[in-house]
Amino acid sequence: MIEFDDVVLCSTGVYTQVCIECLSKYPEIDERFEHSPGPPPELICGVAGCYNDASYYVELVVFPSLTQEELNKLRNERFNP
Ligand SMILES: [Zn+2]
Repeated sequence: MIEFDDVVLCSTGVYTQVCIECLSKYPEIDERFEHSPGPPPELICGVAGCYNDASYYVELVVFPSLTQEELNKLRNERFNP
């Protein structure tokens, strides 16, 4: 179980960022979550107790997102049953 002390909640999901050391130290981050390089250098690793510069964004939870086509379909079903 990994503890994160810096998570960000926004409309599309829950995110954090991790350093290269934590990514290799905790293989479950690599296995369970999508991660992509790119945080700005001033961001610190989100793993509790780690203060390295972060190198990867990590998507902890991604809310279901619908395409415009799917949204339109739902609207049509609701208003034109
Ligand atoms: Zn770290």
